[in-house]
Amino acid sequence: MHEVSIAQNIVEIVTETLRQHPASVVRSVRISAGRLSGVDGEALRFALDVVKDGTVLADADFEIECPPAAGVCQNCGREVEMADIFVLCPHCGSTAVQLTSGDQLQILDMEVE
Ligand SMILES: [Zn+2]
Repeated sequence: MHEVSIAQNIVEIVTETLRQHPASVVRSVRISAGRLSGVDGEALRFALDVVKDGTVLADADFEIECPPAAGVCQNCGREVEMADIFVLCPHCGSTAVQLTSGDQLQILDMEVE
């Protein structure tokens, strides 16, 4: 389960971000884990709840969004929803569909007091 190392990474990034504001408490963090990012949202939430103890995130709630992946067909130029890395364009049948979003994992924003 690589979600634990991802969770530790997120804690590190937030800790680093807050270094200039040592008195702050993080209330909530919004994370986007695209459907094709290879990250399981529920597993990540569980991992975050485990690793947040004793960190600036100890009292934080996590909101994890899992937006669907999308791509653009290089043949007909239309947008295609992607359930997998490799899909056939439903409009023209081309295999040349380029993934444009949905494979990223990022911290969208956080609420700090
Ligand atoms: Zn197409």
